[in-house]
Amino acid sequence: MYKVGITGGIGSGKTTACKVFEVLGIPVFYADTAAKEIMTQDTLLIEGVKAAFGNESYFEDGKLNNKHIAGIVFNNEQALSQLNALVHPAVFRAFDAWEATIPATVPYTLKEAAILFESGSYKLCDTTILVTAPYEVKLKRLMQRDGVTEEQVKARMDKQLSDEEKSKMANHFIVNDEQQSIIEQVLALHQEFLNAAEEFKN
Ligand code: ATP
Repeated sequence: MYKVGITGGIGSGKTTACKVFEVLGIPVFYADTAAKEIMTQDTLLIEGVKAAFGNESYFEDGKLNNKHIAGIVFNNEQALSQLNALVHPAVFRAFDAWEATIPATVPYTLKEAAILFESGSYKLCDTTILVTAPYEVKLKRLMQRDGVTEEQVKARMDKQLSDEEKSKMANHFIVNDEQQSIIEQVLALHQEFLNAAEEFKN
């Protein structure tokens, strides 16, 4: 099935854009939510995490010991890469399992991931969308949504690739500023993807 990857910096509005696609009947796989869920569900991943970071990575009831893992990977690039090398393939497995449940009548699917480009997951998509918004707009939205400070927003943004870097890899763009309608942009892209998916089938 034709796969569209969608990403954007924090507060850019990628989830909001996905909600519009959902209204159009397009199923969306939320990779960041899936990544959290599989930490306690994917047996291969659980075994890998225990082998890499110790059995204390999980409590006896099977819940993830977030504090333990965060303590190891915080400021330790090598440990973080090791964790990512376990989690990313597990998210790919979860996506494949999810996609297998999608009816063949669905024209295409959307995969939403904050780190679509950073994780290399964009390579498994047929095309990609980058959602962008000016810094001031993102800041305002995040302060409103999460009640965070500008410093906290900046710290989160610093961990992601810049829009400039991401835009070199993206195929399509949604500009979610306060001027252009996100709905109209999604409708135009939806039409393009319907055509591309049709060609993809043949
Ligand atoms: P994150 O990566 O932090 O989860 P995101 O890119 O998924 O963020 P959203 O959650 O979609 O961003 O949007 C951030 C906030 O801005 C939300 O509260 C959302 O309702 C609001 N928002 C997004 N787009 C618009 C818009 N066009 N007009 C008004 N509010 C918007």
